[in-house]
Amino acid sequence: MIDMRSLARDLADLVLARSCAGCEAPGTVLCPACWSHLTRSVIERSLPDGTLATASTDYLGIGTNVVIAHKEHGWHALTPMLGVLLARAVTTLTADPVSLVPIPPHAQALARRGTDPLADIVTATTRALHSVGQHAQCRPVLMRRQDAGALKLLGREERRLAVQSSFALSPRTPGLTGRVIIVDDVITTGITVVEARRTLEQAGIAVHGVAAVASTPLRGGLR
Ligand SMILES: [Zn+2]
Repeated sequence: MIDMRSLARDLADLVLARSCAGCEAPGTVLCPACWSHLTRSVIERSLPDGTLATASTDYLGIGTNVVIAHKEHGWHALTPMLGVLLARAVTTLTADPVSLVPIPPHAQALARRGTDPLADIVTATTRALHSVGQHAQCRPVLMRRQDAGALKLLGREERRLAVQSSFALSPRTPGLTGRVIIVDDVITTGITVVEARRTLEQAGIAVHGVAAVASTPLRGGLR
């Protein structure tokens, strides 16, 4: 049976891929100059609870444009590249076998987009890691207990309260092997991933670190 949604996405990609998601240069979905920018270095941050977090690029300019094009505008042709960017952040944390635990989507966002962009990226990340010999499995064991909705309109303390106890472990949690790494597309304050870590560790699951495609530069030298 033809998957009409998938077909429509592929057709949309053909139309949309006429310019670079990062800089709008014509001819490609992501130009070599933007790719070079996104893979220039890996950012390391210590989150408020001391968790080590890594990201492939800043959530600024090109980094923001590419993440938003994929997440909000459905540029699915970017998925393999975003998978490689997240894989760079993972390998910086460890070269050991990993279980990647994605931050679950908000119900509203999932309904609006009809897809979970992060889940697609993480699938591409496991492929990218396998291709360089690092064993990786996607383990979506977290679920949202209550949906805090869009956090970007809230202040730092309001965000912290909104995400408190927002995650639960899926009742059908498979065994997690190797080092457990929480993955997200963008780290902003880190409050969401810190809460995810707290949820996992309360269930006796040790978290090795957090990896993301991009990280927001924080004011006040908290990076
Ligand atoms: Zn470009």
